[in-house]
Amino acid sequence: MWRLCTAHPLCTWAWLWTLLVGCLLETHAARRPVYSIRIAGVFDESGPPALVQAFRSAVAAINMQTRADAILGRLDRRPLLDAQEVTVSALDSFGTGRKMCNLTLEGVAGVVGPRQSASTDVVRSVCDRLEIPQIVVNWDPKPPPSRRYQFNLHPDAEFVAQALVDVLHELQWRSYTVLYQGDESLVRLRSVLQERDRTDPPIAVRQLDESGDYRPMLKAIKQSSESRLVLDCDTDMILPVLRQAAEVKLTEVYQSYLLTSLDAHTLDLTQFRLSGTNITTLRLIQPDSEAVLKTMQDFEYRWNKTPVTITPHTMRVESALTYDAVRVLAAALFQTSTIGRLRTWPLSCLDEEAVWDHGISVRDFIRDMRHEGLSGNIMFDAEGRRVGFSLEVLELSAAGFRPVAKWTPEEGFVSSKTETETLEEKQSILQGRHLIVSSRIGAPYLMEKEHTTPPRVGNDRYEGYSMDLITQIAEILNFTFEFKLAPDGQYGNRNEKTGTWNGLVGELIAGRADLAICGLTITEERQSAVDFTMPFMNLGISILYSKSEKADPNLFSFLDPFTVDVWIYMATAYLGVSLTFFALARMAPGEWDKGHPCDPEPTELENTFNMINIFWFSMGSLMGQGCDLLPKAVSTRLIAGMWWFFTLIMIASYTANLAAFLTNSRMESPINGVEDLAKQTKIKYGTYESGSTAAFFRNSNDSLFSRMYTVMRQARPDVFTDGNAEGVERVKKEKGNYAFFMESTSIEYMTALNCDLRKVGGQLDSKGYGIALQLDSPFRTAVSSAVLTLQERGNLSALKTRWWKAPEGEECDEDVDTVDSAELGILNVGGVFLVLFFGTLAAFFVAVLELLWNCRTIAVEEKITQWEALTSELKFAMNCSNDEKPVRKTHDADAGGGGDNDADVDGEDVEGLRYGSR
Ligand code: ASP
Repeated sequence: MWRLCTAHPLCTWAWLWTLLVGCLLETHAARRPVYSIRIAGVFDESGPPALVQAFRSAVAAINMQTRADAILGRLDRRPLLDAQEVTVSALDSFGTGRKMCNLTLEGVAGVVGPRQSASTDVVRSVCDRLEIPQIVVNWDPKPPPSRRYQFNLHPDAEFVAQALVDVLHELQWRSYTVLYQGDESLVRLRSVLQERDRTDPPIAVRQLDESGDYRPMLKAIKQSSESRLVLDCDTDMILPVLRQAAEVKLTEVYQSYLLTSLDAHTLDLTQFRLSGTNITTLRLIQPDSEAVLKTMQDFEYRWNKTPVTITPHTMRVESALTYDAVRVLAAALFQTSTIGRLRTWPLSCLDEEAVWDHGISVRDFIRDMRHEGLSGNIMFDAEGRRVGFSLEVLELSAAGFRPVAKWTPEEGFVSSKTETETLEEKQSILQGRHLIVSSRIGAPYLMEKEHTTPPRVGNDRYEGYSMDLITQIAEILNFTFEFKLAPDGQYGNRNEKTGTWNGLVGELIAGRADLAICGLTITEERQSAVDFTMPFMNLGISILYSKSEKADPNLFSFLDPFTVDVWIYMATAYLGVSLTFFALARMAPGEWDKGHPCDPEPTELENTFNMINIFWFSMGSLMGQGCDLLPKAVSTRLIAGMWWFFTLIMIASYTANLAAFLTNSRMESPINGVEDLAKQTKIKYGTYESGSTAAFFRNSNDSLFSRMYTVMRQARPDVFTDGNAEGVERVKKEKGNYAFFMESTSIEYMTALNCDLRKVGGQLDSKGYGIALQLDSPFRTAVSSAVLTLQERGNLSALKTRWWKAPEGEECDEDVDTVDSAELGILNVGGVFLVLFFGTLAAFFVAVLELLWNCRTIAVEEKITQWEALTSELKFAMNCSNDEKPVRKTHDADAGGGGDNDADVDGEDVEGLRYGSR
């Protein structure tokens, strides 16, 4: 402080002024009658000297205030503190007891300390017995069943344990390893280790070696791929452990630590800030709080003659609590002194009756007190346990420890980070980092560029979809990267026997890469070993096959537009319609006409639609040529109309389909889908053995696919390949005798480049390619959202278009197989047949009506019964050999003998003369 102040003239004046006021106060105090009361600080021989400093500093600060108040006449009856320091040995209970009894013989109003050890119980029993309040300040693994006069300022062991459990729960670690120092740690972690159910993450527990060399153990942890550790040890041991962890590369961005010490924030962890190691801890003291900052001024003032060693950020819990303990005790004593003059008297440990009469009041004041100390809010429950405190949860960031949440016994873990903050934090995590990107050579994802002199270096050696994708992601997230090829060139397959992974997945697991990018399929099995981002491409398994050979020219290919069924149905329709037409024509009176139009008195009527003419008529319409015979009756016109409609549609369909057949150099394909492939044995089929496609067949529950996998396994020669490129070559070489299961995106690329290859059938499944990261990688959210951004901006589809294109001039002609030129079956044209059928039926009913109407007219005119007229008409109609019908004479004509014969011979209704039908 003094050294600091000499640098500034103002500060020097302030300093001198403070000294002057201090001297004046001392002089005045000497003149005022201020009495004193004794308190004791009991310290362990082996305890930290900072506790004694804190004790002295607190007493000095309180006494200075008391003197100042006395001089100013504010509080007359407040005593000064007469502090006595006693040093005890943690191992010598007897000596401790003796020292305590000597102390009480001199009279003492309160005791602060000692630290937890065998001696604590001795001090507690003396204090309880003589009713002297005692305040302890350290973590007590075994709190006494009842505290009469003892208070503990340190949060109770149970609360600390619960805070650790809650923080671990919030961290959501899938598994972790607990590194502990000694038995005391196990007591502290009791709640973490016990009462675990199946949903809790699995944990491993390891003790830190007493030799101080933790490297072998840390190396083993690193090899086990464990990246989350709970470290419970003395505060001074934390740095050596972390430094050795750094030596074995266990303090990188992927590792997370929970430090259980409440003093961990006082350590200098600069080395780990930039490495990105995730370090979480808890603290009781909030260095930036007003109380701490004010008190630190006291500390500095008092110690101005010696170098100041304590700052708000380096003050440890026990020092702060010792300071608070003196203040709490003093406050209670001062309150008691307001009731009457407070005094102490000698108390003998041997005197069973001896008690300090004020003890009970002081204890009750402490119990009811609310005090704001260095360690925050101070309150006690009836058990003498501290309540109402809060622990800050801290995370190490590049700028140092940062509070992220609060833990209180009442509310548990309460995060102070908003969701946006968490997201922003996750997204900024990659800024300025250099990542290793693992990949494999495989077009179009990653290809080696042409060799040049001097040879290309670094990322410039490669190009492809993966390179462009990661470059765009790196631009968004502001990181740099370096491509490294997986030594075995595999995607990532788990060895069933050893459980180890190869390929890109293996590289990530071994920590040799941060990201893996290529056409790497997201599978459930891989997801248990690595993390994946959002898929950047969607696809499914399909069949790669060679294009079919052109069919030989066929003399009868004109029959192709219709299936055989349709041809047969057409012939049947032709026959059926012609016969029906014939029957109708015979029944319908309108079809019977005079033989010659100029014959005014025909004796016989003729029907043009005899069998031969009808077949000719139907044929003419069917061929689209027409015919000079035309029906006249309603029924025959109806059936003829229906037939024309039928022929119109059929001719149009035939012509259209024939055109497609003729323009299409039609190819014959033996397989049109996976079922066709499974049904036959001639065409072998296989897939890339170490990829997700083979895994799909291997793990499929679908009987078809598992059967196909068995067939593939048993096939000789082997149908599995060492890569997709080998599969493509095999399809090309074996021309139609080998089909290869491959992912649709790769098939698209291969068929764009090789015009004699094609994709057969649809997709067998649906999945995606993702960028893989190490398990629980902190980069996942950031990379995923970058992928999403690229998708929304349309960059992903632009990249696909760019890389899935054949070089200019080498594009394939449009795949003629895709032209739909299948024969038309009965299902395609069945409707026209139905229309024809119902039309014919309707015509038949109309013909019947016509017949009946005619019979009625005949019956009236010839004065015969309608039944007789009908039977005679029917008989005639059924006599197919007779094509001529005699003209019936009307009754009037018969009776009148000639009558008016000047009838219009062209008219059908000739007076006195009736045709055989009407
Ligand atoms: N993309 C696949 C994989 O990730 C490879 C394949 O099966 O074609 O394993």
